[in-house]
Amino acid sequence: MTTAVVVGGGPNGLAAALHLARHGVSVTILEAKSTVGGGARSGEAGYPGLINDYCSAAHPLGIGSPFWKTVDLERYGLSWCWPEVDCAHPLDDGRAGVIYQSVDKTAAGMGSDGKRWKHLVGGLTEHFDDLAEDLLGPVLGIPHHPLRLAAFGPKALLPASVVGKYLRTDTARALYGGAAAHAFTRFDKPLTASLGLMMLAGGHRYGWVVAKGGSGSITQALVDALGDYDVTIATDTFVRSRADIPDADLVLLDLTPAQVLTLYGDDMPARIRRSYQRFRVGSAAFKVDFAIEGDVPWTNPDCRRAGTVHVGGTFEEIAATERERIAGRLVDNPFMLVSQQYLADPSRSAGNINPLWSYAHVPPGFDGDATELVINQIERFAPGFRDIIVHTQSSNAVALQEYNPNYARGDIIGGANDGLQLIFRPRFGIDPYATGVDGVYLCSQSTPPGAGVHGMCGYNAADRALAHLGIPRT
Ligand SMILES: Cc1cc2nc3c(=O)[nH]c(=O)nc-3n(C[C@H](O)[C@H](O)[C@H](O)COP(=O)(O)OP(=O)(O)OC[C@H]3O[C@@H](n4cnc5c(N)ncnc54)[C@H](O)[C@@H]3O)c2cc1C
Repeated sequence: MTTAVVVGGGPNGLAAALHLARHGVSVTILEAKSTVGGGARSGEAGYPGLINDYCSAAHPLGIGSPFWKTVDLERYGLSWCWPEVDCAHPLDDGRAGVIYQSVDKTAAGMGSDGKRWKHLVGGLTEHFDDLAEDLLGPVLGIPHHPLRLAAFGPKALLPASVVGKYLRTDTARALYGGAAAHAFTRFDKPLTASLGLMMLAGGHRYGWVVAKGGSGSITQALVDALGDYDVTIATDTFVRSRADIPDADLVLLDLTPAQVLTLYGDDMPARIRRSYQRFRVGSAAFKVDFAIEGDVPWTNPDCRRAGTVHVGGTFEEIAATERERIAGRLVDNPFMLVSQQYLADPSRSAGNINPLWSYAHVPPGFDGDATELVINQIERFAPGFRDIIVHTQSSNAVALQEYNPNYARGDIIGGANDGLQLIFRPRFGIDPYATGVDGVYLCSQSTPPGAGVHGMCGYNAADRALAHLGIPRT
C-alpha cells in the first residue's frame, strides 16, 4: 500500500491528507500542537464561555474553494452563517463604504461609483467559479478557462493604486483599499490589484461567511471527513529533524520554506535550495481578542451590522500606512481587520458578553504591545468602545510564532506578497510544490494560491504527488 506522511495539520495539511487518502494512500499526519487545525482553530481567549477564532475569521474563499466543495463539509456538520452586512469600512466623518453579497445592492449604495464598481467586480463575480479553478493553482499551468483569465489579466496586473484611482468616491475607494490590504503589501507595485479583486469577487459570489461555532468547526468537519479513510493523526508531535519523519512513499510538508530547508536542505538541488533561501517572510499581525459588553458603538450604523469591518481610514491613508509598515515602521493608525462574527453566529457569545476579533498590520518581528493602539483605532470610529471592554488577550509577532512555527516573525500569510513572490511561491517553476527531493512536496500557504482557509495549496501539492506516483486521479 502507498504510504504518506503529512507534517503539519493546518487546513492545507488536512486537505493534502484527504486528497491522498481518497486515492487509497495510507496517511499519517504529524502535528506539533495538541490539536490539528493550524490557522482554523477556535476556543476561549481568556474569557469563559466565549468562542474566539484564534486565526481565520471570515471565509469567502473557503466556502468557494473548489476542493472543499468536493468534500461537502456540510455533510460533516459544518454550517456557514451570513452576516446582514458583509463588510463595512468607516470613515472619520461617520460615513462608511458598505459591501453586501449582491453586487447590485452594493453598487446601488455607491452613488456615482455604482457603475464603476459593477464594471470592476461584476464580471469577476459572475465568473468567479471558473476563475477560481485557474487562479487557485500554480500560475504556469494550462488554463481551464483561458478567455475568463484573459479578461481578468489586465486588471490583475495593475498596481492596487491604479484601481483605487479608477473609483471616484472616498467610500468605494476605501472599500477597495481595505480588500487590497488583505494582501499585506504595497499598493504601488504591479500585480497588487489582483488579490483585492479576487477577495471582493469571492465575497460577492459567496458572502463574507463565518463558520457556525467558530472556524474550528471547519477543522472538525475535515477531521470527520478524514475519519472515513485510512488516516492516523499524531498530535503533540513536533518535527524537528528528518529522523522524526517515518519512512513513507510521500512526504507532504505543511511548513514554511525555512522549515523545509532545515529538514531537507542538504538533499535539495542547489537551484531550489537557493530559491528557498531567498524566500522572504511578510509583515506581521498584532492580534487582539476582546470580550465586550454589548455591541461596538460604531458611529456608522451599517458598521453595527457588519460581519467584517475594515479599520484604517481612506484609501490614501491605508496606502501610506502600509508603505510605512513595509519600511519597518510601526504607525499609530495601522490598517486593521475587525470581525464581529457573533452577529451572524450568536452561539459564540455568553449572554450580553460578545467576542470581538481584531488584528493590526505591524512590522515583522514586532515584539511590543500594540493593544492600546488597536483600541484607539477602533475608538476613532466607535467612540465609547473602550468603556465596553471586559477582557483583552493580545498576541504580538513573538507569541504568534510560538503558537504556530509557520508564523515566522508574526507573518500570518506564509511569505511576503511582493514582487514575483506574489504569484511564484516559493519559487518560479511549473511545479512549485516539488522540493526537488524525490517524493517530498511543500503543501503550505507558502505555495500557490497562498493564504486563506481554502485547502487549495494542500490539494494541489497532493495532486502533484499522486501524479508523480502514477496514481490516476478522480
Ligand atoms: C490572525 C490570523 C487571521 C487570519 N484570518 C483569516 C481569515 O479571516 N480568512 C482566511 O481564509 N484566512 C485567514 N488567515 C490565514 C489562514 O489561517 C492561513 O492562510 C491558513 O491557516 C494556512 O493554512 P496552512 O495549512 O498552510 O498552515 P497553518 O494553518 O499555519 O498550519 C500549519 C500547521 O502545522 C503545524 N506545524 C508547524 N510546524 C510544525 C512542525 N515542525 N512539526 C509539526 N507540526 C508543525 C502547526 O502547528 C499548524 O497546525 C488568518 C491567519 C491568522 C494567523
